[in-house]
Amino acid sequence: MSLLIKNAVLHNLKRDVLIIDGYISKIEEDIDDHADYTLDASGKFLIPSFKNGHAHSGMTILRGYADDMKLQPWLENKIWPAEAKLTPEAIYWGTRLAALEMIKSGTTFCNDMYFNFESSQKAYIDSGIKSASGPALFDFFDPAKAELMKNNCKNDIENKDISQNNSLTLAAHSIYTLSKDSLKWIAEFAGFNNIPVHIHLSETEKEVTDCISKYGIRPAELLKETGLLDINLIAAHTIWLDDNEINLLAENNVTVVHNPVSNMKISTGGVFPYKKLKDKNIKIMLGTDSCASNNNLDMFEDMKIAALLQKFHTNNPEIMKSEEIFDIATGNEALTFSQLSSRIEVGAHADCLLLDQNAPELIPSHNIISNLVYSANGSCVDTVICNGEILMENRRVKDEEEIIDHIRSIAKKILM
Ligand SMILES: [Zn+2]
Repeated sequence: MSLLIKNAVLHNLKRDVLIIDGYISKIEEDIDDHADYTLDASGKFLIPSFKNGHAHSGMTILRGYADDMKLQPWLENKIWPAEAKLTPEAIYWGTRLAALEMIKSGTTFCNDMYFNFESSQKAYIDSGIKSASGPALFDFFDPAKAELMKNNCKNDIENKDISQNNSLTLAAHSIYTLSKDSLKWIAEFAGFNNIPVHIHLSETEKEVTDCISKYGIRPAELLKETGLLDINLIAAHTIWLDDNEINLLAENNVTVVHNPVSNMKISTGGVFPYKKLKDKNIKIMLGTDSCASNNNLDMFEDMKIAALLQKFHTNNPEIMKSEEIFDIATGNEALTFSQLSSRIEVGAHADCLLLDQNAPELIPSHNIISNLVYSANGSCVDTVICNGEILMENRRVKDEEEIIDHIRSIAKKILM
């Protein structure tokens, strides 16, 4: 399968780009090679696509279902009872809706965490975007649940055909839903099978104080003790970290995921310690978290809010410059996932976007990156290419009406 993009604007230069079997094979001023499909990109910017580092896509069906609440009553009275009603079909279509929204706002990869991951993974494959997902692991400190969790996890992994584009992670929920024994088991199992682990870490101050009173150490220290820092770890949130924990994450090459909108909406307190993490060269991704706590999946919004939050919090407009957050959002740091590239260059995975130069938000064009971070939104994306396939052209995505119809009827049936 080959795709030729003609006359795109790449780094302010007019360029043709030839894509073969999912990879960029040539970037030149004028390419005449035959391709299966030729895309006229005259008047369009070509940029790398966004990579969503942390989401719970199946929850998209809960968008707007419960807002303006404190974390515990929000979870206990609204979210968990609603989630108990979600069928595999609801999770499949919720994830299809999430993927549709991601495509329409320029995201081609999602690191997902949700139960019934077979439904989510099928939804990602059917939508054409890349993903990482896997069994959701929690035991709520009940040994019987822990045994069941381990058996289910082993079965899930053994029976799973995994493609390179839709890879496997172990979705270990958190240190406050998993016993120490289970954390150790997950570390060993992940290490033996060479599977990355995705976990929530230090989202709230309560998580830290509870951990100290229970174990006498802080959350990242508990991850070290249980072996989870010895494996490939992706930690979402990482707000309440002390300097020793930041050193541990750096020494052990952990990838952290910042979710600014969700953190502000749920008011988890504290602010992602961006400068300290950056100074230690820790890999950082940007995530939306779920549609119940964001409430959309538009990475343009998350880029802008991430940058504004850092500036406002530190009283320093020079922190988190537009180029830095754009690099983070497009996966520059996300080498954890081998199916991703963050740059448009020969040999890279062909995951990229075309944006109309005439979109009002992009005019005038003094600085395209500044416009993308501070002015644009998802509706500026015109065309989306993932793995060399066109998933959206002129803002049209296949199956769009079908996905919306399904979600409307499932949401009505289950949640009203
Ligand atoms: Zn989360």
